[in-house]
Amino acid sequence: MSPRPPLLVVATRNPGKTRELQALLAGFPVEVRDLGRFGPLPEVEEDGTSFEENAYKKSSFTARILGVPALADDSGLCVAALGGAPGVHSARYGGPGLSDAERVARLLAAMKGRSDRRASFVCVLSLAVPSGAALTYQGRCEGLIAEEPAGEMGFGYDPVFFYPPLGRTFAQLSAEEKHRVSHRGRAMAELGAEFERVMRWIRSRMPPGDPWNP
Ligand code: IMP
Repeated sequence: MSPRPPLLVVATRNPGKTRELQALLAGFPVEVRDLGRFGPLPEVEEDGTSFEENAYKKSSFTARILGVPALADDSGLCVAALGGAPGVHSARYGGPGLSDAERVARLLAAMKGRSDRRASFVCVLSLAVPSGAALTYQGRCEGLIAEEPAGEMGFGYDPVFFYPPLGRTFAQLSAEEKHRVSHRGRAMAELGAEFERVMRWIRSRMPPGDPWNP
């Protein structure tokens, strides 16, 4: 019997992100679990001023508390006409407790009558080991804010993120189509391109006897 692959925790409770990160990690020799598999854990304060800072807070906190390497994604939508907002506040734009559809409606209201519709999705991935050391990867995708929502796939702002090269919103793309061009897909491609090296990097930082370093 071959040994079980070592564990990598995906430090999120956002089901949309979990789904995408799990799909993006499917080909790699690691067992991927999200936070839902670990019961209640203290919440990380996402009060950083950059995607990098928040991604590192989530990955390092999770790796430290669980004693397992952790991959965190901090991402968001930056709209040129709104001075880069909602940016790092994308998940809470318009206030806490809103649904994705309500946040999209807030964004469309803020964009009403604006001709500059340029926007970019940004994703920073931070992969941390329990000691706090971490690797960082970034991806970006340029698009336009649509006049109205279209499509049922994806999550968050996907229904209003129009991607000109494919002539559709992200919510009108299949998961595979989105991964090929999205901010998260691009950041994961960077990580995936050097996954062998990343595995060695993790292994050398885990204690002997750990499944990463048997
Ligand atoms: P956070 O990284 O947990 O702070 O949340 C990022 C937020 O940005 C999500 O809750 C979404 O609202 C938005 N977002 C990030 N990536 C995507 C995406 O791929 N599609 C749509 N919305 C996204």
